[in-house]
Amino acid sequence: MSISHLSRRAALVGGGWAMLGLPKAAGLSESALLDKTIIPTASDVCFSSRFGDPKALPIAKALGANRLDWTYSTNKDFLRQAKIFGLNVIGGTINMCPPDIPGSTRPTYLRGRQQNYRGDFIVAPWMSGEGRNWGCVNNPDFLLILLHMAQNALSAGCDYLQFDDPAGAVQSVSWGGCWCDFCRAAAKKYGLSLKNQMLDIQKRSLLDFISNFRQKLDEINGKRIIISCNNYNGDMGEPSTAFDFGICEIQEDNCSYISIKSLFNNYRKKEWMQVFTFRTGDVYLNRLLISAAHALGGSSIIPWDIYMGSGRPRFFGATEDFFDVYAQVRALGPLLSGAEEANYLPEDILTADGLNTLKRSGMETVIRSYGTLTIMHVLPSNRPTEGEIPLPFPKVPFKVNYLMSRGGRSSSHIQRMSLSSHTWSTVVMEKR
Ligand SMILES: [Zn+2]
Repeated sequence: MSISHLSRRAALVGGGWAMLGLPKAAGLSESALLDKTIIPTASDVCFSSRFGDPKALPIAKALGANRLDWTYSTNKDFLRQAKIFGLNVIGGTINMCPPDIPGSTRPTYLRGRQQNYRGDFIVAPWMSGEGRNWGCVNNPDFLLILLHMAQNALSAGCDYLQFDDPAGAVQSVSWGGCWCDFCRAAAKKYGLSLKNQMLDIQKRSLLDFISNFRQKLDEINGKRIIISCNNYNGDMGEPSTAFDFGICEIQEDNCSYISIKSLFNNYRKKEWMQVFTFRTGDVYLNRLLISAAHALGGSSIIPWDIYMGSGRPRFFGATEDFFDVYAQVRALGPLLSGAEEANYLPEDILTADGLNTLKRSGMETVIRSYGTLTIMHVLPSNRPTEGEIPLPFPKVPFKVNYLMSRGGRSSSHIQRMSLSSHTWSTVVMEKR
């Protein structure tokens, strides 16, 4: 492609705003600040109905959900109903395969798409046969179409956007990468070779694209639009940090307390908020992971309508299996969302007998602080193996030392509150 051809394309894109019904970009006002009330906290109960099923709303309500995250629905009636049901914050969705014309009843996926070496469009392997070709981040048509998809969700009533497969341009490198004219031009611009440096080119193109997309979207709306990303398996590599928080799917192999805990060590350092959707149909495992995610400072999406992988039925958890866990999240409220890492170890709080009981039962403790309060969560680290007897929750089977010591100094505490669901106990203590 010649440079003059590219300039003509750029000119077409400039005029394309009106063509696609997008308002002309205006300068961002000084009051365009980040609305942090949209970013979830550990006391939020998140719910997702991907395709806007009205039957889902009473289920969300029953479990105490206060947010609707990651929905593809742009049905204004459904989104209005969701708010009536107490889902106060709604997250719409953008992804790598927006239809050419948003809301079309017979959608096509032909404009601004990635092309392989032979010039054929590229589809993700798990979407094979669906004809939903992936967009190319170097193609200006894709930028326009994605802006249109975003604007469609926002004008229907969504408060923020979730970007599914945000690393799409880089992911597709393992399937051969994009060889379209725009990617060839990008390679030239970076002084790199598509044949030998496809990954580098797509990484740089992706970051440029996200930055450009966000700037344009903010200008159109006159404010900062919050965007989360599906940082698959909780990953914090690029491009996750180009977004405001994460809502990730965790595949079944990584659904363990140990995996979740190690992710939070990293999130704490980076002040990153993470919401999880666990791709397991195992009720016990779901319960312990939900408890752990909230106790550690993150949040979770209620296990209902969960994508379990291509060709597998979605998982719809029963309300009664998760009611008590989410009731505990709501009851603890700010003691979850406002808590910080505490300066206590389990042995500072528990008697030797209590500590041994927990260890024998495969329990973990998460100790946090909130002002003068110390909060100790006790959670199973794994599902009980055959023959192993789980601790008899909700009867708390350990003794609390009210005299807690740290660094040679002791302080006296009194127990303020104790809450238990069948897999999660919390003791709240206050300094005398
Ligand atoms: Zn391309």
